[in-house]
Amino acid sequence: MNTMQSADAVMDVGIAQCLSATEKRLRAAHATHLGYPYNLATGLPLPSGISDLLVNNLGDPYAGSHFASEVCDLERQVVGWLQDLWEADAAGATWGSVGASGTEGNLWAIYLGREALPSAVLIHSDEAHYSIPKAARLLRIQTMSVRCRDSGEIDVAAFEETLEQVKGRPVIVVLTCGTTMKGAHDDIVAVMNCLDVHGFGPDQRFVHVDGALNAMVLPFVDGAPQNIRPTFRHGIDSISTSGHKMIGTPMPCGVLIARKSHVDRVASSIAYLRSDDTTLMGSRNGHAAIAIWARLFGHGRARYRDDVHRCVAKAQFLAAELSRWNIPVIWNAHGMTVVFPEPEVRIVNRYQLACYRGQAHAIIMPSVTDDLIDEFLNDYRSWWMSSDRRLPQ
Ligand SMILES: *Cc1c(COP(=O)(O)O)cnc(C)c1O
Repeated sequence: MNTMQSADAVMDVGIAQCLSATEKRLRAAHATHLGYPYNLATGLPLPSGISDLLVNNLGDPYAGSHFASEVCDLERQVVGWLQDLWEADAAGATWGSVGASGTEGNLWAIYLGREALPSAVLIHSDEAHYSIPKAARLLRIQTMSVRCRDSGEIDVAAFEETLEQVKGRPVIVVLTCGTTMKGAHDDIVAVMNCLDVHGFGPDQRFVHVDGALNAMVLPFVDGAPQNIRPTFRHGIDSISTSGHKMIGTPMPCGVLIARKSHVDRVASSIAYLRSDDTTLMGSRNGHAAIAIWARLFGHGRARYRDDVHRCVAKAQFLAAELSRWNIPVIWNAHGMTVVFPEPEVRIVNRYQLACYRGQAHAIIMPSVTDDLIDEFLNDYRSWWMSSDRRLPQ
């Protein structure tokens, strides 16, 4: 017995050491992080007593069940906060839930679309997130990808050509509010007008807006044009966002809001849960719902607005500084994403940059300090001056 206890004790020391080394590594990685749209400046004041409790939002957030270790009340408040932000009253009744990620929101939205329009073709842009074609493969939906402009936004003329080709079949359209690589905003109003003009009325289309990052950014940007804003006033069917991006939770999660009529179509009652089966996952992460709730209500709209204005200004500054050195940059107005040629691997690794086809980007989230931007600019410039990339092509 004694031997067992001391073996346990040795093991506990080993586990504690490993966890503390892991914490150290994560903190160091956070300090120079520039490449992914993660808001690491959360300072989330969650009581530590909650962290070791099982919290499982089992089943539909609105239905309730016999199971009591849940926080569906907080989840519904989270959904309400975002329903206000995205003006969901304009869509009639809407439903929402906290899921595992932006990807789950996209997958579930596309599922709702397919159940509404079983013979639909899914149309997305070349710059849509890879979770969109993946969802289409999982659901065996035929897809068509539409070319983008250099900015990364969908080319509306090309979208129209695609509509001509699919005439006779309904469509599921996925638009992006803040594309992954370039932070571009698809013109939602122009696309809705095209659909109307070409005879794809409300019963022949399902439009989802993937707002993983910028559905929590654009609503706070004064002066952002109405046609790119993520709002149900445009007559769309659903919007999703990630919790660990602009909202700033310490675990991956996401929120989807959709018209309730679509959700009612797929709800099937499961007696033993006393709940409607309206979510992809049965068991769902209640800690994520708590974290989003604490962020949205603790930080509040005014501070998100401050964060967004500061970040957009800094992104504009970074783009301007790089341009001064004749480095080709893309910065889409009202966003926090700055695209530039992929630098040497040392810089990619240090700043944890995401690279794609010779390009890389920095995303100026609230956790990115002025010092980090300066350090990056110095590193990047030195590399640029010493590389042959700067020579005219
Ligand atoms: C990050 C991202 C996603 C995926 O979100 P996850 O929460 O990482 O699953 C989807 N769409 C876009 C545009 C994204 O940038």
